[in-house]
Amino acid sequence: MSQPYDRVFNFSAGPCTLPVEVLEEAKEDLLNYKGVGMSVMEMSHRSKAYEGILAQAESDLRTLLNVPYNYKVLFLQGGASLQFSMIPLCFLEAGKTADYIVTGAWGEKAIEAANLVGSTKLVYDGKANNFSDVPKFEDLAFTPDAAYVHFTSNETIHGVEFHGDPSVDGTLICDMSSDIMSRPVDISKYGLVYAGAQKNMGPAGATVVIIRDDLLAKVPAKMHPILDYRLHAKNGSMYNTPPCWTIYMCGLVSKHFLNTGGVEAIAARNLTKAKTIYQAIDASGGFYKGHAVHHARSTMNVTFTLGSEDLTNAFVKDAEALGMDGLKGHRSVGGIRASIYNAFPLEGCQALANFMNEFAAKNG
Ligand SMILES: *Cc1c(COP(=O)(O)O)cnc(C)c1O
Repeated sequence: MSQPYDRVFNFSAGPCTLPVEVLEEAKEDLLNYKGVGMSVMEMSHRSKAYEGILAQAESDLRTLLNVPYNYKVLFLQGGASLQFSMIPLCFLEAGKTADYIVTGAWGEKAIEAANLVGSTKLVYDGKANNFSDVPKFEDLAFTPDAAYVHFTSNETIHGVEFHGDPSVDGTLICDMSSDIMSRPVDISKYGLVYAGAQKNMGPAGATVVIIRDDLLAKVPAKMHPILDYRLHAKNGSMYNTPPCWTIYMCGLVSKHFLNTGGVEAIAARNLTKAKTIYQAIDASGGFYKGHAVHHARSTMNVTFTLGSEDLTNAFVKDAEALGMDGLKGHRSVGGIRASIYNAFPLEGCQALANFMNEFAAKNG
């Protein structure tokens, strides 16, 4: 079952698998982009050709994610990690409190950054259950008139995900780094959504920020320019040199998914893919233990453990020999993590499930 170009099944958590068709198109245009006479990597970001690339990338992303007209779509740098700081710097007003729902390692990093800026309230801390569950929003005690509520829709390291869009009375902010584009999302429920490109949208180097227009007016008058959403919005993501190549690639990825059924089709494929692996876990009679409780299971990062460190290492090694790469769990959790983002093929999930069955039969 050899893959095109002898590629392996890449289960890496990010950067990760991109659609082969997108890589082929980028290869086609690598040395001379559509007759312009140079590569996208070499082009001025102020050139007509590049302006077209950026405008198309934004437009296709808007269409794919069904972004309402009263939101800006920005391509920034600094990763999702810079958003951990930019959000409180711009929106955590003095005298107010920001509520954080922490269901994993990324949410923890987000609140740590906010704590350097102002007052926060940890309205849910998943540490007690070792980040294996997500709460229901209606069970949480939010701060009345909070500056905003922040949560992480999919915790990439622990493999727990909120399914569906929650609502709150005030401004809802979501780190969608590892599940953006993976299912239909009602953007109008959110004040701000952000995501690093390198999991579901393209290569590393860009962060997509989708921000409702009225929030821009709330940025304090004196803000460092590079941290000021208003400036980035006013300049159409061209306040300074943008990550040109990454934005181009994100554009190709959006176009590819628009041409193959949009987010509804992506979501249906993702569900089938995730089910394939979770079934292998559940059918193993306890040989594999899923990390997340059932209702919080991630469709993007399937996390599970084996009985011992030795078994885990043998599993990773045997899988690699079969062309399955990147399965070792994050160092903070251990075990196995299969990251199966939008571009990851179903055949890879089937190959992993088959291997899991055989490995359990041999070692159980
Ligand atoms: C990967 C990831 C981040 C960090 O992204 P960087 O681009 O490396 O800063 C933050 N949040 C989530 C949910 C992630 O998966």
